[in-house]
Amino acid sequence: MLLYYMPFGKLGLTQPVLDGVKAAGYTDPTPIQARAIPLVLSGRDVIGSAQTGTGKTAAFALPILSKLGSHKDGGPRALILEPTRELAAQVETSFRDYSRFTDLKTTVVFGGVGYGRQNDELKAGTDIVVATPGRLLDHMEQGTVRMDKVEFLVLDEADRMLDMGFLPDVRRILDQCPRKRHSALFSATVPPQIETLIQWAMHDPETIEIGARRTPAETVKHVIYPVSDTQKTDLLLELLNRVKYDSVIVFCRTKHGADRAAVTLKRANHAVAVLHSNRTQKEREQALEGFRDGRYEVLVATDIAARGLDIADVSHVINYDVPQHPEDYIHRIGRTGRAEAKGDAFTIMIAEDAPHVYSIERFINQKIPRVKLENFDYRYTALFEEAKPGAAAGFPGKVRAVRVRGGYHFAPGGRRR
Ligand code: AMP
Repeated sequence: MLLYYMPFGKLGLTQPVLDGVKAAGYTDPTPIQARAIPLVLSGRDVIGSAQTGTGKTAAFALPILSKLGSHKDGGPRALILEPTRELAAQVETSFRDYSRFTDLKTTVVFGGVGYGRQNDELKAGTDIVVATPGRLLDHMEQGTVRMDKVEFLVLDEADRMLDMGFLPDVRRILDQCPRKRHSALFSATVPPQIETLIQWAMHDPETIEIGARRTPAETVKHVIYPVSDTQKTDLLLELLNRVKYDSVIVFCRTKHGADRAAVTLKRANHAVAVLHSNRTQKEREQALEGFRDGRYEVLVATDIAARGLDIADVSHVINYDVPQHPEDYIHRIGRTGRAEAKGDAFTIMIAEDAPHVYSIERFINQKIPRVKLENFDYRYTALFEEAKPGAAAGFPGKVRAVRVRGGYHFAPGGRRR
């Protein structure tokens, strides 16, 4: 659509915001920006289902900043709700970046840190609050912030807020916001509870769907490495040894698993940082900062901790554990290939993972090639030999996993025995 090629200058943003965009180094709007910016500027409520890495933050931040214009006393006029502290911090940074040529003030509010600075900033008066729901409610109850001046509301990563049990808090916050306001909601999926929230909280929203909602970032090359469960760690270490990466995120299913993987990688002399929700806020910030500035080359993370994080230039994602929710696969591999950079995503798969892999493949509507690491000392090479000729990089149709001495190997055809 012609609209996609509209330059930033023609979208109706104010000059100081355009200057901010230029300073951020953006030349052209991404498709979601080209669609969402004029809609938000015209006062429409918007539901965005673009995947992560599409530039959705600027899609809502730029028009909101333009509409806010300049600083006003009397409480926040824009409220952005985020599911995690890291996301909140990241979105706050974007708002500050884009508004650097205005006098608008942005405050971030999240738990796990002291109240002092947040109290001071809120009392001093702020235009934009970027917050996680729990801590924001604390502030509202203590009277440090009021929602009665809110004109713009953004519910970012709404499906993740639902997963994390935040919807009741979100409703309590929205109850305190004026009914006459503009709302935007971003969500990779729209389960029934989010549908209800949309009906309750939004007014005649326009839905923007960019690309196929379930398509992983096109710039990412993704493959699966099947292996027996006893060799998972060896394969991970070998992948890290062989692959020329600049920075890699290793995803684990549990916090405990992430800690264990980190210890193993440290022992193998990798510079490793860990990100999961049992770490203190300070530890998480240090991990992210060290990873961003290159001190750590490997970041071991769980899904919740890494959701939506804008970590630039990740060359590789390794799924040490197959994600149990297909959407998490998209989110994980979306860490690479952000804003058009290229990346690789490797998934280590053991026999028990087969059902999850199939549901991921159904979800993204494509088969992920199975590949073998050359010269790796596989315990169960039958896995590949039994695949159809020419299918060393893929199982034909159904795969059955056969239990062999405490592990499994895969063979084409029927069920696990
Ligand atoms: P997001 O989807 O908002 O997390 O953005 C993903 C990445 O794309 C971030 O690093 C942004 O700084 C970057 N980005 C957003 N909009 C643009 C644009 N129009 N041109 C280039 N990069 C962008």
